[in-house]
Amino acid sequence: MKITSAKFVCSSATVSGKPAAKMPEFAFIGRSNVGKSSLINCLCSNSRLALISSKPGKTRTANHFLINDAWYLVDLPGYGFAKAPQKEREAIEGVIRDYLNHSQELHELFVLIDSRHDLISSDADFLRELGESDIPFSIIFTKADKSGPVACRKQVDGILGQIEAIIGTKPTHFICSSLKGTGREEILDHISRQLSR
Ligand code: GDP
Repeated sequence: MKITSAKFVCSSATVSGKPAAKMPEFAFIGRSNVGKSSLINCLCSNSRLALISSKPGKTRTANHFLINDAWYLVDLPGYGFAKAPQKEREAIEGVIRDYLNHSQELHELFVLIDSRHDLISSDADFLRELGESDIPFSIIFTKADKSGPVACRKQVDGILGQIEAIIGTKPTHFICSSLKGTGREEILDHISRQLSR
């Protein structure tokens, strides 16, 4: 899929604040610093697009970007902020839960995981809940350029084994580097196939 236009539309704390024009949605989530903003910018070939999401107030909301006037890329807040005050953690979890439980237009959720690190408890908890839901999801392993290809594949296989132990299956996955553009075409083609189903 070629991205011809990518526009920020709105930020919302609940699905009632989503854009009025309904379109298929593909959402992205992961722990803070996993590389989500970089990936969104890479997918959209716009180095500033996801900057919007990191503006004060926007890190706690679902941020909708209209892509090719045909679908929304939804940037969800990061989960598992161990150091954040409990009230803030609860507010963020509320936004995520509300979106995942009530968004009728969600076609697929992409869960970003750093390819260099084993799952931590917040990843495991999130994936367990996701596995018990009927939300379609895939995994995107980020920052693949930080290891050699063989080491990266070995680490990814290890994490996939950990995920399988939690949800009972190995999900569809993509290995990406926003720095090098690796995995970009595969993710966009995957979205394109989902849109034409
Ligand atoms: P976010 O908090 O999940 O939005 O993460 P960011 O996109 O802001 O990235 C966090 C850090 O990881 C930044 O310093 C990025 O430059 C770096 N980063 C993100 N993606 C990549 C990647 O594919 N390769 C490398 N080498 N660094 C990356």
